[in-house]
Amino acid sequence: MSAVIGIDLGTTYSCIAFMDGQTPVVIPNLEGNNTTPSVVSFIPGGQHLVGLPALRQAISNPYNTIYSVKRLIGKKFNSPEMEQLRDKFPYRMIEAPNGDILIEAAGEIYTPQEISAFVLAYLKQCAENYLGTRVEEAVITVPAYFNDHQRQATKDSASICGLKVLRIINEPTAASLAYGFNTRKNGKVAVYDLGGGTFDITVLEIHDGIFHVLSTSGDTFLGGDDFDNRLIGWLLEEFKKEHGIDLSQDKFALQRIKEAAEKAKRELSFTPETEINLPFICSGPGGSLHIQKKINRAFFENLTRDLVENTLTICQKALKDAGLSASRLDEVILVGGQTRMPLVRQMVAEFFGRQPAARINPDEIVAIGAALQANIIKGSTRDLVLLLDVTPFSLGIETENGGFQKIIERNTTIPARKTMAFTTVENNQRRVRIHVLQGESPKAADNKSLATFELVGIDPAPAGVPQIDVTFEVDADGLLRVSARDVGTGREQKVEI
Ligand code: ADP
Ligand code: MG
Repeated sequence: MSAVIGIDLGTTYSCIAFMDGQTPVVIPNLEGNNTTPSVVSFIPGGQHLVGLPALRQAISNPYNTIYSVKRLIGKKFNSPEMEQLRDKFPYRMIEAPNGDILIEAAGEIYTPQEISAFVLAYLKQCAENYLGTRVEEAVITVPAYFNDHQRQATKDSASICGLKVLRIINEPTAASLAYGFNTRKNGKVAVYDLGGGTFDITVLEIHDGIFHVLSTSGDTFLGGDDFDNRLIGWLLEEFKKEHGIDLSQDKFALQRIKEAAEKAKRELSFTPETEINLPFICSGPGGSLHIQKKINRAFFENLTRDLVENTLTICQKALKDAGLSASRLDEVILVGGQTRMPLVRQMVAEFFGRQPAARINPDEIVAIGAALQANIIKGSTRDLVLLLDVTPFSLGIETENGGFQKIIERNTTIPARKTMAFTTVENNQRRVRIHVLQGESPKAADNKSLATFELVGIDPAPAGVPQIDVTFEVDADGLLRVSARDVGTGREQKVEI
């Protein structure tokens, strides 16, 4: 016998769940916690730690303690986002020959997929321990804004640790699935997910067990980490003012400050004032120096209010895409640990004109939704629940003069398939180059290139005569397949992205 589980593979924290009959249950990790830091730390002797023990290594072993790989997965070393991010991590990243990111730790080189696989293997082991059976299959969630590369890389991580992915689903969709399962209400729902590294907003319609995503939007560089960074930045500035020492270059000190800042942030969600106390943070000319600061909630709110405002701008866009006003929504679901911050709850409530749904654990709801989806795929859920998701970007090909022709529009329900006819631009043209891109700009150069391939052997004919059918197909995991077919010869070329 083997069991299927749902995995919320988070940037900062991961969570796993399974269905005990018709009841979703969160599976605790080996330390007994319901969420596990998505952290891997390599220690001497060729061993590695995962989760809380790894996170605890972050101070003493900063170069070999790898966190937030979800921010790196499926990305290129020289992408603009990475340029901005690379220096923020104490561990070493290098460029792979193919432009991907590699991580160097304890003298070894790892791909982000391999690091993620260590986390997944640990979660798998936790589930096997808890359930007393093998776990071979899982539904894994990803942010709605993950592109093809990132989704594929997530699948690769699972296969590295011997886990078969039943389905990749979007985190907000999983959350609303879990929400819908509990309440069995019909209506339009917004899922506001502010996690450690990413923000997602999704508008869905739930009707008699059918979940239809109306729109999705987000920012892969907006999350709880940014709230921490505001506090860290302020602490560094204060320290510089007081002692003339820049701690930002001291990785050891920085890690301690980072941990203290996150802890203070969490506390401020429950108490009006907290203190940051870091003795012996560094040595100055007159001996050891310390950080000791009292911080109150109002001060922290002022430091971070614009971050919350940014999320609301994105919410506005998602509502517009869905063709809805906030007042037409029936429910707002808060997901992600950062939504525990009272200011977030308050500003979200004001924006949407209603209090967010109660009795939802923002750290666990995504994993529960994934477990539910696993059960649905396995045919073990009594009710008919259909999950309809959408493409987060428009997909299309480059046309003449650097133009971009959309073939599958953004926010199209997936799985989706669409064919468009193209032709040649030169007389006796024997081959066409198909350049696949994603994005919203009418200019190809402004969009993200996904793949290029050639269709050859077209019969000689005047320009504009041959018919080339280009078909785009997005499967239920959000993965794209593109094919081009010369109608005259029946020749076909395909790429899977
Ligand atoms: P992810 O899915 O991105 O891993 P989570 O949903 O686990 O993220 O949220 C992690 C973020 O939530 C972190 O930035 C963490 O500091 C923050 N967080 C957790 N608990 C609280 C709290 N009580 N108040 C404010 N932020 C919190
Ligand atoms: Mg999350």
